[in-house]
Amino acid sequence: MRPASRATGEALARFGRRVTRVVTAPPPAVVEALVAIGRFAAARGWVPATSGNFSHRIDARTIAVTRSGVDKGNLSAQSIAALALDEPLPPGVSAETPLHLARYRADARIGAIVHVHTVAATVLSRLYAADGALRLSGFEMHKALDGVTTHESEVTVPIFANAQDTVALAQSVEAQLGGNPATPGYLLAGHGLYAWGATMDEARRHLEGLEFLLTCTLEERRLQR
Ligand SMILES: [Zn+2]
Repeated sequence: MRPASRATGEALARFGRRVTRVVTAPPPAVVEALVAIGRFAAARGWVPATSGNFSHRIDARTIAVTRSGVDKGNLSAQSIAALALDEPLPPGVSAETPLHLARYRADARIGAIVHVHTVAATVLSRLYAADGALRLSGFEMHKALDGVTTHESEVTVPIFANAQDTVALAQSVEAQLGGNPATPGYLLAGHGLYAWGATMDEARRHLEGLEFLLTCTLEERRLQR
């Protein structure tokens, strides 16, 4: 996993023993990575109506996250905020930012988190919500996920009930995920898919792999009717 990258765009001010961190702007490389994943997801129709959100670690204590209500296919530096993991949320960031922060806090190896509102994720998370998970087996695409080397495996994608109190939801999700879950993603019922990775490239591969598996499962259900 990639170590913490350079911490440009931030300033530290010391007041006695207390260190106050002022995060001003994300580094250009982080902005580029977020603009690119936004375009990628928007081109596939995965973030309709300004939905979805994306984040990238800047260093051990700081991340960059997309702002609320912006078109994810047309991101710029102005639509991305930098914030500290352990500070109160600044205004204007995505309402789902607490879900991102909780993942970064739970696993120091996570370098990027991606969240989309796809049709397959939305429909299947409703259909299987009562089961608490979607269990997949036998797909070659399992191998898109970190550590999976064969289709002869089972991939379990947890499903959590959706909630508008995202601070409480983040606590509940993390308590159930247990720090380092086997699958690098989860579903929120009737809402969408979260995925993550050590780098943005890995997070995108996990997102694509999981979304492909969800789409296959949805197609199979249609054919079985
Ligand atoms: Zn969402």
